[in-house]
Amino acid sequence: MVAQPEPSGTRTWRAPGRINVIGDHTDYQDGLCLPMAIDRECRVVVAPPTHPETVTATSAQMPGAVAVPTAGTTEPASVLPAWGRFVAGAVSACIDRGVAVPACGLTVTSTVPAGSGLSSSSALSVALVVAFTDLAGVTLDRVDLARLALDAEVRATGVPGGLLDQMAALHGVADHLLLLDCRALTAEPVALPRALGFVVVHSGRPRTLAGSAYAQRRAEVEAVARRLGLATLRDAAPEQVADDPRARHVVTENARVRAFADALRAGRTDALGPLMVASHASLRDDYGVSTPELDRAVDLLMAHGALGARLTGAGFGGCAVGLVQRNHADDVVAKVARALEAAGEPAPVAFAVRGADAAGEV
Ligand code: ADP
Ligand code: MG
Repeated sequence: MVAQPEPSGTRTWRAPGRINVIGDHTDYQDGLCLPMAIDRECRVVVAPPTHPETVTATSAQMPGAVAVPTAGTTEPASVLPAWGRFVAGAVSACIDRGVAVPACGLTVTSTVPAGSGLSSSSALSVALVVAFTDLAGVTLDRVDLARLALDAEVRATGVPGGLLDQMAALHGVADHLLLLDCRALTAEPVALPRALGFVVVHSGRPRTLAGSAYAQRRAEVEAVARRLGLATLRDAAPEQVADDPRARHVVTENARVRAFADALRAGRTDALGPLMVASHASLRDDYGVSTPELDRAVDLLMAHGALGARLTGAGFGGCAVGLVQRNHADDVVAKVARALEAAGEPAPVAFAVRGADAAGEV
């Protein structure tokens, strides 16, 4: 591989976090989801190297200094501090894809809260691979970049994630949701009416079990697909999965995503909230990925003016998202935060989010 010229000045790349408005635990079954890239993002500032043939990195949010050889030979899982595994994963995924990563010094800064289900990890991975491919002068399309970022993240964490988060970060359009078809690997922007907005509420619990329980759920629905003789549940009919709650969630969730996108396009905004509420019930009762704290966040959102609410992301802690009248967003945020405080949460986290543009150089 040809050695890459090292950066001489500094350059900056960004990638957004995301909420998933509807369509969770469908991506790894070739299904549909409807995320929105948000105005919380990870920035990676790339400066000239401080050590030869090494990518060094520090983070404004995480302690410790990371050093990874540009050869991509380091096993990402062995890197300490642990967040450096994302840097090592990105370097080794790039090298294996023929992207020569130059020696450089990285500074990471993110406004995506980590471990909350807003995909701070993909914001970081996508920002890194977009930076590395640009520095190497390699042009990949947005889907290949998403695959590369997913590869980096799987190397870093060992968790076999779907492409939802990376696709959202790489296809975001301001004030739009994205209808993702995880089989066709397409992302279609769907406009959010001006009158509507979203509010994020942290459940108060980190996503602790997410890795192991995620892999277990994934194995369960893969087994159902195999039993039905299907590659994935994308083509399963509702009656084929009526008796299996896990598979039933996947199949009904795909239908809810379609219905949500159709309602948005047709301006039938009354239909949106109930679809989110039904999605949460399915994730809680059929898929078994909610927690009492997530249920509480959803209940508080609904009690304080949200039109619909559900957990967002993989569940097992992290955040809930509420659909609100945009001019009520601040009011809903304040009321939910007060209610959480009254319920004993020491530092409630709630904020409004807007749809943001895709990852790229700043
Ligand atoms: P989520 O993606 O839902 O935020 P994850 O557990 O998948 O939660 O990812 C969180 C991990 O991503 C952190 O533990 C850390 O390793 C990495 N990470 C996220 N943000 C940053 C940051 N600003 N600096 C360094 N590492 C980060
Ligand atoms: Mg993550």
